[in-house]
Amino acid sequence: MPELPEAESVARQIRAHLLGAQLNDCVVGRADIVREGLSTLSWYRGAMLEDVERYGKSVAMGFRNEGELRYIVAELGMTGLLLFHATQTRHPQHVHVRLSFTGRRESELRYWNPRRFGRMSLLDRAGLDAYRARRFGVDPLTVPREEFVRLLQSRRGRLKPLLMHQQVIAGIGNIYANEILFRARLHPNREVQRLREAAVIGLYDMMQSVLREAIDCGGSSVKDFFAPDGTEGQYKNRHLVYGKEGQPCPNRCGRVIRRLQSERSSFFCPFCQTNRLSG
Ligand SMILES: [Zn+2]
Repeated sequence: MPELPEAESVARQIRAHLLGAQLNDCVVGRADIVREGLSTLSWYRGAMLEDVERYGKSVAMGFRNEGELRYIVAELGMTGLLLFHATQTRHPQHVHVRLSFTGRRESELRYWNPRRFGRMSLLDRAGLDAYRARRFGVDPLTVPREEFVRLLQSRRGRLKPLLMHQQVIAGIGNIYANEILFRARLHPNREVQRLREAAVIGLYDMMQSVLREAIDCGGSSVKDFFAPDGTEGQYKNRHLVYGKEGQPCPNRCGRVIRRLQSERSSFFCPFCQTNRLSG
């Protein structure tokens, strides 16, 4: 958390409120929050925000300065937030970077990250391409269905860790993996190579529908996520299994949602999400 829908909500707000603004100053509080490119920091002063994209769970802001384009990429990772000026957080000491702008509605974007799992990177175009190639697999919203089917058929291992493997499929974390698998009626530990093509297609359709619905809701606010303007994501009200251990299955099958402790908690219905070979 944040995952793809939350990062997408962040990117959309920055686009809506800061595209075309001029970056007046960038202050980095701790040098180790910048993964690469700190020596180019002064280049960004006076540059114009021209483009905002989401890659996986990261947000990339493209700046133009005298014909050249460079990027600031913020990893939202487990706990990162990008916040406008008026949005308050607990623990303001965890604000590590401040970008101040003129010319648009918002005057500031702060990068807040208490656990510092995430970093910022300052990259030129080639650097951004290399960064993306290294870190991000296919995007679950734009990968064509046939490519997704081929991708899954080429992999081995359990289904849920694969869905969350950022270098294979970028942007899905524990919350959405659980919600997608429940709706697709697939057990988290299903062996990927034993899925029938029809099941993979069902998974693809459900993955897209869950992520799109979550984006429409502004994501899920779990463990302190909020958007740059401080609003909370409402998709948490539509979670069917995440955090629902011991509650009746929403399909009314008569069983309760179970929690399986592995690397990350899996929430699933032992009746509706079978681990059989068929399906
Ligand atoms: Zn059930």
